[in-house]
Amino acid sequence: MYNDTMANLIQKQKHFYRSGATRPYEYRLRQLKKLRDVLVAYEKQVIEALKKDLNKSEFEAYSTEIGIAYEELSFTIKHLRSWMAPRKAKTALTHFGSKGRIIPEPYGTTLIIAPWNYPFQLAVSPLIGALAAGNTVVMKPSELTPTMSALLSEMLGSVYEEEYIAVVEGGPDVSQELLAQPVDYIFFTGSVNVGKIVMQAAAKQLIPLTLELGGKSPCIVHADAPLKLAARRIVFGKFTNAGQTCIAPDYLLVHRSVKNELIAYIQESIKEFYGPNPLSNPSYGRIVSEKHFQRLASFLQDGTVASGGRTAPDHLTIEPTMLDQVTWDMPVMQEEIFGPILPIIEYDRIQEAIDMINDRPKPLALYLFTREPEIEDTVVDSVSYGGGCINDTLMHIATPYLPFGGVGESGMGAYHGQGSFDTFTHYKSVLKQTNLFDFTFRYPSSKNGLKYLRKLFKP
Ligand code: NAD
Repeated sequence: MYNDTMANLIQKQKHFYRSGATRPYEYRLRQLKKLRDVLVAYEKQVIEALKKDLNKSEFEAYSTEIGIAYEELSFTIKHLRSWMAPRKAKTALTHFGSKGRIIPEPYGTTLIIAPWNYPFQLAVSPLIGALAAGNTVVMKPSELTPTMSALLSEMLGSVYEEEYIAVVEGGPDVSQELLAQPVDYIFFTGSVNVGKIVMQAAAKQLIPLTLELGGKSPCIVHADAPLKLAARRIVFGKFTNAGQTCIAPDYLLVHRSVKNELIAYIQESIKEFYGPNPLSNPSYGRIVSEKHFQRLASFLQDGTVASGGRTAPDHLTIEPTMLDQVTWDMPVMQEEIFGPILPIIEYDRIQEAIDMINDRPKPLALYLFTREPEIEDTVVDSVSYGGGCINDTLMHIATPYLPFGGVGESGMGAYHGQGSFDTFTHYKSVLKQTNLFDFTFRYPSSKNGLKYLRKLFKP
């Protein structure tokens, strides 16, 4: 698609938005139900596309992509009416006689740019929020998962006109052409580096935006943690989708006294979940591209391999791997890993772990395994991060009651549940004044104006 056709598409959507069609509750509800119907109708193709692009098993496809989208949809359908209702605001003494309202208003035409790692869920979840909030949507899926990209285009194209929802396929060039358009909101999920490009493009036109980015998310295992359980939950969080999860535990910070025991339990869980030879397990995810595979394979030289470490270059697979004796200056600790490699760093006092995290950009997620409430409070209160779990991994993303997002370098803004509606909504404040009387003390001609003002606005 060339620039002028993109401009046309945006103009078409703006025109449709201005007609007011997308705003009524009934319209939004109908479109969300239509989305649910089309997702159900295409469920089999979605599972096949995820298998083809990322070798996702049906179990993973349902638990981490389709199921989450369904949950988000039913939650939104259930609560939409109450979210849309204008809220009354209190009246200040200075505004006696007037009424205040806060009116949820759609932004208008929105742009959603999605990544490849959960190519269905991370495109559909923001779409649900955007539609619920009454916007039109241009969606650009990732070019690295081409089967899903084409499927989203076909699936959404089969039920929606492009003046309401359009899928534009392509890579960075297409993405940048879209970012040059005067859309009303941008929702981007992807890497920190591209996030900076997106924010610069948005700044040129002062377009409000959400950035769902990544980074290195730590997982702390304290001396008192229930180690066997912790190991299972860490293996679940790290090796789902072969580690290609934005909130996967990137590295472990383990109390020195329990490191060896934890490593043994993690090895046990890997065997239990993926069998003795994960490389030939058909349910174990593959790395998205040759380039990504090479980058990950190079990390295997860092530290010493505590378990795993083998690769199958012909089908882009890397064994679930733990790296011991790792230091911060090694390449594996210099960037987000985004693959099935888990480096381990030891600490003696919890403050050391906290300092190591606080010396670096604010993480998207943080996980802590401990039984001690005091340790829990110390970590939660002294580290800033997007969100996370105590005694678990990943699960905070899968509930519509917790807004999900990053802070600082890991992103800005949050979504899921009502958070998605809020993200795609501008809350407009409106004051309605009474015509029954008029306080004249505010006018410059008022005799005792200043006296009254001093009474009303006191320090
Ligand atoms: P990416 O930043 O490379 O790509 C994301 C999207 O941006 C794609 O649609 C891509 O086509 C587009 N893009 C790529 N280069 C661009 C450019 N120069 N200009 C404009 N657009 C461009 O990210 P990815 O590799 O698809 O995803 C992995 C990253 O995303 C990881 O860092 C991960 O942590 C992060 N992520 C974050 C979340 C979250 O919810 N916070 C979820 C998934 C992934």
